[in-house]
Amino acid sequence: DVSREVLTWDLFGTASRELATLVADDGYRPDLVLAIARGGLLPVGALAYALDVKNVATINVEFYTGVDERLAVPVMLPPVPEVVDLAGSRVLIVDDVADTGRTLEVVYDFCAAHVAEARTAVLYEKPHSVVHCEYVWRRTDRWINFPWSTQPPVV
Ligand code: 5GP
Repeated sequence: DVSREVLTWDLFGTASRELATLVADDGYRPDLVLAIARGGLLPVGALAYALDVKNVATINVEFYTGVDERLAVPVMLPPVPEVVDLAGSRVLIVDDVADTGRTLEVVYDFCAAHVAEARTAVLYEKPHSVVHCEYVWRRTDRWINFPWSTQPPVV
């Protein structure tokens, strides 16, 4: 299906390693990697190992309800990370894709208010994203199939 960008598990291994290398080669040394759940959860684990960062946090944001189906606005769901854990730290915000970029924007704005520095890393960025991530593995305007969400749940 040429209308889709397909990331396989195998390619994900390469992608996350290369994304981590972009961060490292840029000299950014995050104290904390922050995953936007759920899309950022698998990328953040790979990046945390590759960047040798043990401090991992997650934040839940709900925006999409299906292929190209969205809520009106992205919503941060509780529990929101404790601001005291973030204060003064260099944070790398990690997600699977910046599509509209509005999910990352919500989390970036939240972090910017509380941390020393926040940067963003994604596997994919789409051309119309309102956020321009510092670290991007690939750019596409197609819908992406990620290996963790291509198959339906087993339940
Ligand atoms: P955004 O707020 O940037 O539009 O996208 C938020 C989230 O929607 C992404 O983190 C991702 O989980 C989901 N999403 C957006 N575009 C795609 C896509 O092309 N493929 C898949 N599988 N999920 C997407």
